[in-house]
Amino acid sequence: MAVNMIAEIDYSVTPYIEPETLEKIEALKKELKAVILAHNYQLPELQVVADFVGDSLELAIKASQLENIDHIFFCGVHFMAETAAILNPDARVIIPDPKAGCPLADMIEPEDVMKLKEKYKGDPVVAYVNTSAAVKAEVDICCTSSNALKVVEALEADEVVFVPDKNLAEFVASKTTKRIISWDGFCPTHMRFTVEDIERARVEHPEAAIVVHPECRREVQLAADFILSTGGMYRLPEETDIREFVIGTETGMLFRLKRTYPNREFYPLNERAFCPNMKKNTLEKLVAQMETPTNIVSVDRETAEKAKKSIERMIAIV
Ligand code: SF4
Repeated sequence: MAVNMIAEIDYSVTPYIEPETLEKIEALKKELKAVILAHNYQLPELQVVADFVGDSLELAIKASQLENIDHIFFCGVHFMAETAAILNPDARVIIPDPKAGCPLADMIEPEDVMKLKEKYKGDPVVAYVNTSAAVKAEVDICCTSSNALKVVEALEADEVVFVPDKNLAEFVASKTTKRIISWDGFCPTHMRFTVEDIERARVEHPEAAIVVHPECRREVQLAADFILSTGGMYRLPEETDIREFVIGTETGMLFRLKRTYPNREFYPLNERAFCPNMKKNTLEKLVAQMETPTNIVSVDRETAEKAKKSIERMIAIV
């Protein structure tokens, strides 16, 4: 899909999907004992056909609760599908496009974690879920953007190593008395937001609250009204009387918000802040994989067992 087409997606309209396609998906789900999970950042049509839409944490918890499921079609990026595979070793996890990776997750390798453990001996290592299974296997515990502070606070240590996102690490450091040692990773999509975007939004939408994700640069976080994970963004409209929101995260989030709160207004902080990896998955690719599943995401048993401990420690804290 061309980049300009992605920027032109109308998130205020529920996409039309051919009834035959919907019937086919339902029939294949039944036949395969399958469930479709979709991340908030996925294309609207994938959010519409999904059984469950959520952020990384919600999807990880959902994946851990699934029963009697043989196939999980995971509309998201590779590390998310890996997490589903780790939590459901008996199910086949399939991703619509195997090239849907995460540049942030690719910024750290297990060897980097080993070196950090050597350098900061005794310090617990926390990995944002946006990491490979191999990295999760080497750390003490995982976190998401919604529970990062809670996870760090729960650790019995005054100094914590936090990988790979430096902006999320700075956000956590600003809220805790613990010393945070961060890695130099970042999300290219969230790095697109600037303070100028916020200044422009304040002029264009003076009544709106400006909400940004903690993967945004620190100066963008500080210029916003709220710093929230996508799960927090999703709950915010029902927790306040604010009618208008400028949303500083991947643009797919706008569809979920507009669909859930049709009487509120949501504007993108920067409409070109889409994640090309998230958008590699399409409805056509999903249906093709349901017909002939080939893009199977698996994690070797030893890595999966170690990574599972880091994920389960996180889930126990939430
Ligand atoms: Fe990775 Fe950023 Fe894309 Fe999320 S939005 S998948 S963190 S590159």
